[in-house]
Order: sequence, then structure tokens, then C-alpha cells
Amino acid sequence: MNVNEAMKLLKEKGYKHTDKREDMLHLFALEKRYLSAKDVLERLQNEYPGMSFDTIYRNLSLFADLNILEETELDGEKRFRFSCSISKHHHHLICLECGKTKHIDSCPMDSIRQQFPDFEVTGHKFEIYGKCQECVTIN
Ligand SMILES: [Zn+2]
Ligand SMILES: [Zn+2]
Ligand SMILES: [Zn+2]
Repeated sequence: MNVNEAMKLLKEKGYKHTDKREDMLHLFALEKRYLSAKDVLERLQNEYPGMSFDTIYRNLSLFADLNILEETELDGEKRFRFSCSISKHHHHLICLECGKTKHIDSCPMDSIRQQFPDFEVTGHKFEIYGKCQECVTIN
């Protein structure tokens, strides 16, 4: 997913083009990591001094509903990032310091399924948390 694809999708779904929405998407494109609504507010409040946390949160949830952003919850707070453009099923290692992610190509469900052949799996979540190499080096 990139900003152009996201703006096109919003238009197709009948959502208005606003500079705020576009700037939010540019921020995610630039950062390439998980951001909270608070992070987004901090980055955009110079440009849009009156913008509320609610407005940001509503837009981020909309983007997540449209699969423009992926969401996860870290430390009890929702975080968002651009959806991966890799279409193959995969999981993420997530750095809790900087929010950057790495891809894991293998899926733990493959082995778990064999242990529970009678359970009909309809979905799963799997994330690994820790510190990336850069963050380990800084601290
Ligand atoms: Zn990914
Ligand atoms: Zn990191
Ligand atoms: Zn999986």
C-alpha cells in the first residue's frame, strides 16, 4: 500500500479527499513503522493546530477498516502502520522502542494445525515483540 493507492481507494469508497487525510497517509509512508494516534497528533499539530485526537483516531480507524493501515495493540494503546504490500501470508517482529517491523515468512499455524486437526481455525494473530538491532545498539 502507498499514498496514491490509498487515496484512490478512499475515492472509490466515496470518502472525501482532504489534506489532513493525505498528510496522515504521507506520515505513515515516511515513517514505515507503528504509530499511535498520539504520535500522529504530535507530528501534525503544527500544521493543523485545532485538530483533535478524535478526528485522528476516527480517520486511522477508517484507514484500518479499508485495509490501508494495519493495527495492533501495544502497551494498551492502538498502533497503526501501512499495510504490507507483500500479499503472501506473513507475520511481524515488532520493535517496542521504535515501532519498526521485520517480516517472518513462516507461520506458526502450520505446525499448530497438525496438533489440533479437529479444530476449525477461522483466523489467527501472531506477533513477536522486542528490540531491533538499532535500538539495542543505542541503549
Ligand atoms: Zn509485513
Ligand atoms: Zn527499534
Ligand atoms: Zn500466520
